[in-house]
Amino acid sequence: MPDVRAYERPQSLEEALFRLMQEPRTVPLAGGTALMAYGVPHEDAILLDISALPFDAIEQWEDRLVLGALATLEALARDEKVRTFADGVLAEAAHAEATSLLRQQGRLAGALLTDVGRSEIAPVLLALDARVSVQQMNGLKTWPLAAFFEQMETALGRGLLVQVDIPRPLAETRVRRERVARAPRDRAILSVAGAVRLDGGRIAAVRLAVSGVGALPVRLHAVEDALSDEPATPAHVQALATQAIAAVPLADDRWASAAYRREVLPVLIRRVVCGA
Ligand SMILES: Cc1cc2nc3c(=O)[nH]c(=O)nc-3n(C[C@H](O)[C@H](O)[C@H](O)COP(=O)(O)OP(=O)(O)OC[C@H]3O[C@@H](n4cnc5c(N)ncnc54)[C@H](O)[C@@H]3O)c2cc1C
Repeated sequence: MPDVRAYERPQSLEEALFRLMQEPRTVPLAGGTALMAYGVPHEDAILLDISALPFDAIEQWEDRLVLGALATLEALARDEKVRTFADGVLAEAAHAEATSLLRQQGRLAGALLTDVGRSEIAPVLLALDARVSVQQMNGLKTWPLAAFFEQMETALGRGLLVQVDIPRPLAETRVRRERVARAPRDRAILSVAGAVRLDGGRIAAVRLAVSGVGALPVRLHAVEDALSDEPATPAHVQALATQAIAAVPLADDRWASAAYRREVLPVLIRRVVCGA
């Protein structure tokens, strides 16, 4: 592991941002679990412990849930406001993200910035149309999560991820997630999340996202388009999903072949959309 040159613990956001701008070797440290597991990114790093900064609140607003990016995964899994939001799926995904010990220490920001291609919480946030806010010296910028993932390094710059906002789904929207893993507590091979609104047995609105298909979790726009206004019958949904993912690139790695993923993904989509 590369050497760490120094450790600092700023007490204010201004101080933290100033150090990040002033000293290119600074590396933010939130819970530190991913940095510990994967190592600091370069020699001579200055660890900037941001855990004292006030970005761990979980707030329920009328139209949204607002998560401080430094909330621990355990807080997200246990908090009543999260457990009662979006059919409890977000809390469930936070619980599935890591083991108990890591959840106590690991933060939401860390989960979205490390190995996010296999994250359990990221597809839920994508399906719920979440937005993330990055604080830099020259101001706060908010990104749709999908756009943030596509240009993470530029979007983050020398700033800090401080907040995740999730619009409250409409009352008649059902939110579900389905996953497949080698064993129940293993990291998922594929994890699908969806927000679905039915109207008279037809799919009136659907947002779907998946992790486990590559370096980033992605929205399944082609599947959403194919399912729009179609009957929500399981066999029909699975058949349409099978066709629609034909052009979606799927990872082929030590966890599973692309062929396996192509076989299983439509089944998970069917369960998310139809609940069966
Ligand atoms: C043994 C072990 C097993 C693990 N297994 C899993 C697993 O199964 N699933 C999983 O998802 N993760 C796993 N992890 C990784 C890790 O525990 C989680 O991803 C956790 O959520 C990371 O959060 P953290 O606060 O500890 O991140 P940190 O280690 O503090 O930071 C991670 C990265 O994000 C950057 N960063 C953190 N916060 C901010 C911020 N606010 N703004 C800008 N940059 C920031 C850091 O500079 C660093 O590059 C594992 C880790 C260990 C040690």
